[in-house]
Amino acid sequence: MPRIAIIGGGAAGAAVVAQFLRDAAGEERCADRALTWIVGDRAPGRGVAYETADEQHLLNVRAANMGLFADRPGDFLDYAAARGIAASGGQFLPRAIYGDYLEATLARLLATARRRVTLAARSTEAIAIRPRADAGFSIHTRDGEEIRADGVVLALGALPPASLPGVDAAAAASGAYAADAWRWPDLARAPGHVLVIGSGLTGVDTLLSAAARWPQARLTAVSRRGRWPALHSDQPLAPYADPAALIARLRERSHLGHWLRTIRAAAGAPDADWRAVLDAVRTETPRLWQSLDARQRARFLRHLRPSWETVRHRMPPQTAAKLRALQDEGRLRLLAARVRGIEVDATTADGGAGERGTPRLLARLQPRGDARERTLAADFVIQATGLESAAASTPHALVRQLVDDGVAGADPLGLGLAARTDGRLLRPDGRPWPGLYALGTLLRGAVWECTGLPEIRAAARDIARELPTALANADAAASSERCVATA
Ligand SMILES: Cc1cc2nc3c(=O)[nH]c(=O)nc-3n(C[C@H](O)[C@H](O)[C@H](O)COP(=O)(O)OP(=O)(O)OC[C@H]3O[C@@H](n4cnc5c(N)ncnc54)[C@H](O)[C@@H]3O)c2cc1C
Repeated sequence: MPRIAIIGGGAAGAAVVAQFLRDAAGEERCADRALTWIVGDRAPGRGVAYETADEQHLLNVRAANMGLFADRPGDFLDYAAARGIAASGGQFLPRAIYGDYLEATLARLLATARRRVTLAARSTEAIAIRPRADAGFSIHTRDGEEIRADGVVLALGALPPASLPGVDAAAAASGAYAADAWRWPDLARAPGHVLVIGSGLTGVDTLLSAAARWPQARLTAVSRRGRWPALHSDQPLAPYADPAALIARLRERSHLGHWLRTIRAAAGAPDADWRAVLDAVRTETPRLWQSLDARQRARFLRHLRPSWETVRHRMPPQTAAKLRALQDEGRLRLLAARVRGIEVDATTADGGAGERGTPRLLARLQPRGDARERTLAADFVIQATGLESAAASTPHALVRQLVDDGVAGADPLGLGLAARTDGRLLRPDGRPWPGLYALGTLLRGAVWECTGLPEIRAAARDIARELPTALANADAAASSERCVATA
């Protein structure tokens, strides 16, 4: 019976486990499997995005498209209806409900698939994976266990965020700086002024949580361009009229300028909505990304990435209305500036004059288009600058070990691990591992778009189907090599 380990307890890990369970429940030809799910320190299934209990944190994908399975995008909506939640498919529901859905789906599948599949969940962290001489892998956990597996799927999410360059060590350790927007230190007193670095979707959720938690606090968001995410339309849009022609036109040349012009022309056509145009390109994104050479990818990251993030990762209109209300009240402002440095305010270093008994921080900002720096004092600074994926420099124990031991290569542009588009990790010499896969943020370098649930569930389906075949093929190849050797 193949032993398969899935590492990472977020939605991507849940999607892979659920797909294995579902295949085993539904298909007679599916062989028995032993799954081990190493989930880390969070509740299995929810991960970073769906463990929130804050009802203001909404999904940024409409309910009708959040099903966990690629062939059943409406499954989440059915779950909501069965729970008595009156929602339309076009709505953006709270992420907490989605976390409940993930848990309920796994429990249901486990109950029906148990005869064909065993599932052991471990609440620990995997810190090393070592290929074994007899094929397969040994996984070492933080609490000293060694788990053997024939195949491994890495579903680790984003790598741990490091403090921004320029944040000095005393500020980072002051208790008034959160490098991880989802894990705030306990504050002794409510802050009077909160500074959030980043104004993307994570920054927006962070601001709404801070506003609700400290109703008296003033809030400042700062990002290089000073832009909020673009808005989803109020109602679901009709799909773009001719996606095939659009994609064919994009494929004509692997050139960023050509793609920009093509997309702008399509979006500028009468009756076209730019959002529908971008959505039409979504399934093609991995192939377009693959067709770029390293120089063009680097250019994209330098010049186009911020605009891409703004238009691609959109916020629900209700969320935008909440931000607007905070701005209208005068509690929230958005600055376009670079953060040059963050230091402890020396006059509060002993905790005496600070708002919270911990020091106040001083942020040196360089406003966009202005050479002069200005200084902003804040009682609490939260870094919400997006998903970290630089594998070569990460403190993440497992990714560090994989790179340092030469098991896997780091993407040269800091976009996760080197991999094929099907998720198979590449050794540093470029050869793919038969049984070592990844999905989610670690695959950014291979496919660019892989953080949204629609991409994750498609990757999970493919991995759950391909991994056992890849293992069987590797096994057959190894036995024929052994036969040749003995003959
Ligand atoms: C705030 C937020 C909101 C989002 N909203 C949406 C949305 O509405 N719709 C949508 O489609 N997408 C959304 N996304 C995108 C989101 O990335 C995916 O939907 C999905 O949640 C990603 O799951 P993941 O499992 O890849 O990552 P994560 O949720 O980060 O889960 C990875 C888990 O693996 C654990 N882990 C890491 N390393 C190890 C290890 N060595 N051993 C054991 N465990 C380990 C981590 O602790 C973590 O719990 C959102 C993302 C964020 C951050």
